[in-house]
Amino acid sequence: MGFFEKMVSKGLGWARKYSLFTYPFATACCGMEYMSVASSRYDIARFGAEFPRFSPRQADLLMVVGTINLKQAPILKRVYDQMAEPKWVVAFGVCASSGGFYDNYAVLQGIDRIIPVDVYIPGCPPRPEQVLDGLILLQDKIANERHSLGNNQKLPLRPGQRDLTTELK
Ligand code: SF4
Repeated sequence: MGFFEKMVSKGLGWARKYSLFTYPFATACCGMEYMSVASSRYDIARFGAEFPRFSPRQADLLMVVGTINLKQAPILKRVYDQMAEPKWVVAFGVCASSGGFYDNYAVLQGIDRIIPVDVYIPGCPPRPEQVLDGLILLQDKIANERHSLGNNQKLPLRPGQRDLTTELK
């Protein structure tokens, strides 16, 4: 990458990490903690991510908050597909990350079976501090990604990383 391209990438990374527009895909009890982290006590606005968008076309951060059952899985996949690039995904809580203690026939055992996940936040539910910690991790990741003005496609997969975006098609 040349000097100019590197500077553009760094600038875009800095801007994007502080202007996240969240689509909260909230399905269960973790939603209470999402509300807590978004409210004034924990103040997610300090990280530039305070403004939820309820249209996937206007969001670049999909926060999957709660248990996803198999009937909801295609809807989640569609929401993800409707978001424009670049976009990122956070699995909020153990249910979204791995199915949690709902190890049964009706629950998706982790959203990474259908969409790629950038950050997993553990906890049942995670405390707001954990959510903010996960958000900071995501910001670091965004800042270190390669960005460009002309091509907003995601980078090629890392070695060993599976492309899970096509599995439900
Ligand atoms: S992780 Fe715990 S709090 Fe969150 S949705 Fe699952 S059961 Fe509810």
